[in-house]
Amino acid sequence: MTDDAKPKISPLLGGLNLSFLAPAEGDGAASVPAGPDQSTGEPVSARVVIVGSGPAGLTAAVYAARANLEPVVIGGLVGGGQLMITSEVENYPGFPEGIQGPELMGRFREQALRFGTRIVDADVTRVDFGSRPFRLWADRVEYRAETVIVATGAEALWLGLDSETRLRGRGVSACATCDGFFFRDKEIAVVGGGDSALEEALYLTRFASKVHLIHRRDAFRGSKIMQDRVATHPKVELHLNRAPEEVLGVDAVTGVRLRKTDEPGEETLTVEGVFIAIGHRPNAAVFAEWLETDDKGYLRADGASTASNIDGVFVAGDVDDSRYRQAVTAAGEGCRAAIDAERWLEAHEVHEVHQAHEAGAASATS
Ligand code: NAP
Repeated sequence: MTDDAKPKISPLLGGLNLSFLAPAEGDGAASVPAGPDQSTGEPVSARVVIVGSGPAGLTAAVYAARANLEPVVIGGLVGGGQLMITSEVENYPGFPEGIQGPELMGRFREQALRFGTRIVDADVTRVDFGSRPFRLWADRVEYRAETVIVATGAEALWLGLDSETRLRGRGVSACATCDGFFFRDKEIAVVGGGDSALEEALYLTRFASKVHLIHRRDAFRGSKIMQDRVATHPKVELHLNRAPEEVLGVDAVTGVRLRKTDEPGEETLTVEGVFIAIGHRPNAAVFAEWLETDDKGYLRADGASTASNIDGVFVAGDVDDSRYRQAVTAAGEGCRAAIDAERWLEAHEVHEVHQAHEAGAASATS
């Protein structure tokens, strides 16, 4: 294996220097073994491989590691999930003062490392779930896994404006549940015309003095009942046939410049927050050949458990959840997936030992 092909295990997360989270000497985690297989070019074998290092993946890692399953997390080049681009998190239980998203994810990671998880900062580019051990490839290294937990999350879609990127976390957000609280008695805008935008606009009326709902067409895509609710809500003002061209402000949002889509012209709204609600994309493409998805592209779990359609592969977090999409629900699913994987391994390993025993007995009598 060349140096390039070695799995990279480091405390650097998504280009952010989280070295302050590196474990203290002597607490065991500093010596997370690279494993002899990583220097010889042999495939890396594990009983549990977890794909994704957001709240679901790292919670699964904590549970699997504490069950002595020595999980390998292939966490992505930009690890940590959506919380890495979230500033203040005030709704994650246990942090009454709130906590910065990257710091919270650093703590998840530290906790997973503490119990012996191996974390690889690479993207999975190919999988073969056709037989066991399951095979996954990341950064030109092959991983072989008895069980796999897929926890690759979902990404919010953005408009793609430079000003939107620059002001993200400074008044631009894609999560009303996370950030609505910061806009008490302020005027804000919501962009989008689907159920998410309608729901977020209504939710934000609890805090904001006024919610401007901006949609690029003259008809909403969202459900009729939600349309009726926004249309009759005294705090919601509709701006149809309008598309954002620029989010205004230097260090904080001061407004949004809109292009008229039905006639020439522009207009400017004065707002202190802009919520983008134009949909999410689950990070499921690499598994498309193997795992079933719903009509929106989210992976399917069987409901009662986190089992996917492939025996031994489990799914957790936002990649199979278009409904709740919260850090705490993702963490809960990660816990469920690790317990499911542990029980699955136990059942199959007992079964395989029994089969080997029977085969041995049969050859002894023949
Ligand atoms: P969605 O239904 O795909 O709607 C996305 C909206 O964003 C559309 O109105 C679209 O405009 C607009 N949009 C997309 N790209 C844009 C751009 N670049 N600039 C401006 N506008 C843009 O997504 P969603 O609202 O997140 O809903 C996803 C699914 O979840 C839907 O099936 C929805 O029913 C469901 N959902 C259900 C609930 C609920 O039942 N409580 C809540 C939330 C979501 P166009 O209309 O012009 O294409």
